[in-house]
Amino acid sequence: MKKYRQTGPSTVDSEYSALLLSWYALQGRDLPWRCTRDPYRIWISEVILQQTRVAQGTAYYLRFMERFPDVAALAGASEDEVLKCWQGLGYYSRARNLHAAARRIVSCFDGVFPVEYADVRSLPGIGDYTASAICSIAYDAPYAVLDGNVFRVLSRLFDLDWPIDTTAGRRAFLQLAEAMLDQTRPGLYNQAVMDFGAICCLPVQPHCTDCPLQARCLSFAAGHVSVRPVKRIRAKVEPRYFNYLIIECGSELLLHRREGKDIWRGLYEFPLIETSQPMEYLELVRTEPFHALFEDVEEWQFLESTLMPIHQLSHQAIHAVFYRIKVDQWSEAMRRLCVVDRSRLDDYAVPRLIERYLSR
Ligand code: SF4
Repeated sequence: MKKYRQTGPSTVDSEYSALLLSWYALQGRDLPWRCTRDPYRIWISEVILQQTRVAQGTAYYLRFMERFPDVAALAGASEDEVLKCWQGLGYYSRARNLHAAARRIVSCFDGVFPVEYADVRSLPGIGDYTASAICSIAYDAPYAVLDGNVFRVLSRLFDLDWPIDTTAGRRAFLQLAEAMLDQTRPGLYNQAVMDFGAICCLPVQPHCTDCPLQARCLSFAAGHVSVRPVKRIRAKVEPRYFNYLIIECGSELLLHRREGKDIWRGLYEFPLIETSQPMEYLELVRTEPFHALFEDVEEWQFLESTLMPIHQLSHQAIHAVFYRIKVDQWSEAMRRLCVVDRSRLDDYAVPRLIERYLSR
């Protein structure tokens, strides 16, 4: 494995953290989870903020805390309730892991949030970043965080071309982050560097003119700001073609719960026929899954189709079409799905794509 030579320790003096902490005292964001040392609250906020912007995440955080104010409340809820509260945030494995971790805390730690890093790290869904954030912010334990903001700040400050998406690159950045960490106030320092990346050292058009670290920023001096940090692997986006059947019988329609290892596990959706390419309705009715579903239905009425804008996930682009079809009675295969009255649709946690369709 390739190793990256770290910037000499002489350049990582305490002046960096002092400048970051002074900046944070004046410019740091006033967020609802900043006024607590409760590890449960810090954990929930950190998980929500992964892949979610602060503005959107704050509303979810407040709602989540109201519904599940502590570990016991979260552990005592059903997975469906947790997913419903998470609906619209995406990356639903985060919600399932929160739920599983709360249950683990109850069964293995008597319902008390663990204090030791190794115990925190052992919980479902908690990786190095989240464990470091919780332990440093809640307990002032000396663990450096490394998220997208920190990668950007460090790579720019020291003008580093270490790829942030390789194991060797990440390891080298972690060593540097640990060397930078203010050992006396690790929680405060971690929040300061993350906020600095989110507010001042932005991915595009960073505020270099007002930056308190400008005089020490090597990429600013070298004119490399716009090319830091460096990534080696370009993520491939896979197209997928979803044909949803909204089968209506009177006031009822059908849902099914997604299972398996695919996206949106545990969420509800309309019966789905996934195809390897875009498909017209007349082609769709000739497919095997359509026949299986409509096998003993004598007559049905096609009402309308709706082509949705491409639904972009991190590695997938979902091309979805919704077909409304009316039947007079359910077939045997349809009865095996979840028959739901239209007025109760809101009780079910659905993916954002379905939510978007329903709100049209
Ligand atoms: Fe980031 Fe610009 Fe400050 Fe360098 S000078 S740390 S690039 S904001």
